[in-house]
Amino acid sequence: MNVLIVFAHPDPQSLNASLRDVAIEELMAQGHSVELSDLYAMDWKSPVDRADFAALDPDARLKVPAASGEAFAADALTADVKAEQKKLLWADVLIFQFPLWWFSMPAILKGWVDRVYAYGFAYGVGEHSDRRWGERYGEGRLAGKRAMLIVTAGGWEQHYAARGINGPIDDLLFPINHGILHYPGYDVLPPFVTYRVDRLDDAGFDLVATSLRERMRTLETTVPIPFRRQNGGDYLIPSLELRPELGAPGAKGFSLHRR
Ligand code: FAD
Repeated sequence: MNVLIVFAHPDPQSLNASLRDVAIEELMAQGHSVELSDLYAMDWKSPVDRADFAALDPDARLKVPAASGEAFAADALTADVKAEQKKLLWADVLIFQFPLWWFSMPAILKGWVDRVYAYGFAYGVGEHSDRRWGERYGEGRLAGKRAMLIVTAGGWEQHYAARGINGPIDDLLFPINHGILHYPGYDVLPPFVTYRVDRLDDAGFDLVATSLRERMRTLETTVPIPFRRQNGGDYLIPSLELRPELGAPGAKGFSLHRR
């Protein structure tokens, strides 16, 4: 398989960089082809701004979805964005790897998503009508591919448990797993999260590396998170609310969107 790792950590000697190298080594040992987008090393430009849309009239308002859609349709996106889109189309599996910063991804990675996920490429795809709300959530440009997160967190596993003060990790990662990965079509694998990492010793590292190697060996067979498909019949169109008869009685929040 072809695997793309989009990596967001500023220090090449960090724990994240060491874990990235473990993952790459194991993937290559399994015969996979690996591409790495090391965002800090690439000096990735994060903000979306006018420089992204050279054809835009200097006096015109910058309406990002429209400018993005026009540039995508005209093959006029910037070279850095086009290169990342090409990698996404090449990859059978996409991995985002990052330290949890303020309960989310580092800004540089969010900026990668904002710019690479152009209108017409990752959103605004498919028929939009009274019957269909485009191809999203399990359908779309990247459908049929797999994706997963590799995340390190300073907090303890219990802090992210069902009753932990930080909130459940599945809820915190829902906007990424569901909103960024499932949205353009990916089947999303359960994340690989390592907790309490700030004082990790060598023995701890070896344990984490062993589990990570196992996850890299099972990329093709791991069962994805059972997110519901938008156009699979579970949602009312056009309100896109889950049908009242679905979901456990009394259930609310993000868990409703898992089968
Ligand atoms: P590093 O600092 O590089 O390493 C961590 C430890 O691993 C070090 O002690 C290092 O010696 C050791 N180590 C062991 N083996 C190796 C090896 N082979 N290679 C390298 N290092 C090794 N945490 C949360 O839980 N929630 C948050 O919301 C959150 N927000 C944050 C916001 C910011 C801005 C910052 C800076 C941190 C935040 N943190 C948060 C903590 C953060 O998630 C951790 O600091 C981060 O995950 C650690 O990953 P790292 O790669 O930077 O680790």
